[in-house]
Amino acid sequence: MALLLAPLARQSTGWRERFQSEMPELDLRIWPEIGERSEIEAVACAGLPAGEFATFPNLKLVIGLLAGSERLLGDPALPRHVPIVRVGDPDGDAMMNEAALLHVLRHHRNLPAYQLAQARSEWLSLPVLRPRERRVGVMGLGPIGLAAARTLADFGFTVAGWARRPRDLAGIEVFAGADRLGPFLARSEIIVNLLPLTPETDGILCRKSFAQMPKGASVINLGRGGHVVDADLITALDEDQLSSATLDVFTVEPLPKESALWRHPKITITPHCARRIDALDLVPRICAAIRRVRSGEAQEQLVDRSAGY
Ligand code: NDP
Repeated sequence: MALLLAPLARQSTGWRERFQSEMPELDLRIWPEIGERSEIEAVACAGLPAGEFATFPNLKLVIGLLAGSERLLGDPALPRHVPIVRVGDPDGDAMMNEAALLHVLRHHRNLPAYQLAQARSEWLSLPVLRPRERRVGVMGLGPIGLAAARTLADFGFTVAGWARRPRDLAGIEVFAGADRLGPFLARSEIIVNLLPLTPETDGILCRKSFAQMPKGASVINLGRGGHVVDADLITALDEDQLSSATLDVFTVEPLPKESALWRHPKITITPHCARRIDALDLVPRICAAIRRVRSGEAQEQLVDRSAGY
């Protein structure tokens, strides 16, 4: 069984050695050295160029190297019968926890407003709240979202999470389903978005959602650019419905120079740098997924095509 690996752009070296020590018998092909296409039974990648997936007649498994699967799911050349698995840490990502805490603390302690006041040499007085007095809402309780929500709750914030299905979580109030989105938004002064991008969540942070949040709320988007309707965000900030926003992800990346988001005084932009993927750390889980294909065992972290994540 041959594995075709298409490394992430910034992580192109070290793979062969890592696979050699983890699974010496594996026939590893590294893109673009594909060899005989009929021998490729598994592909590990973030995505492949248009049409490529259709050229592997014996494909049995696709392993997504990114947390988000929207690119793979949206590829018409990827046959629907081929399962897609994710290989991220099921316990979340420490750097994403750090990013969530960093940005929540910054909004919690009013730094965006103080930076604007400083530019006007204005001594601004705003309420100073303790973490438990601040209601943070985390959208998406997948591996990354749940770990981030727990980090924020452990820090002392009053945290709620929004997901599709209900569950009980110690110290985190869970709002489940589309009909609980309104109440979830209404109690959330700082929103951290960690949803996957699906047809249901595309554009979810829009005028209607912003209007449901408390006046002066903040939005932190660490999910995908498509979750936010940029024009609605700008309007909500201009109308003071929202006080500030931090955006790490964008519909088009790098964010084009002409985007109005760059110049908005209440928006902080970070260049999709919430975490660094140490892709070589994924090798043991990639090998475990390949062993499961060989033994016919059920895969873990299978992407649910109908749910879109
Ligand atoms: P998952 O795909 O596992 O998140 C799924 C979560 O979202 C689940 O809790 C699910 O609910 C919930 N969800 C999905 N659809 C809906 C819906 N329609 N309504 C309500 N809840 C919904 O993601 P991860 O936690 O692994 O990662 C989150 C996202 O973070 C990724 O998809 C990616 O876009 C982004 N990301 C960004 C990075 C960055 O650098 N900025 C880095 C890494 C990830 P349920 O639990 O009920 O199934």
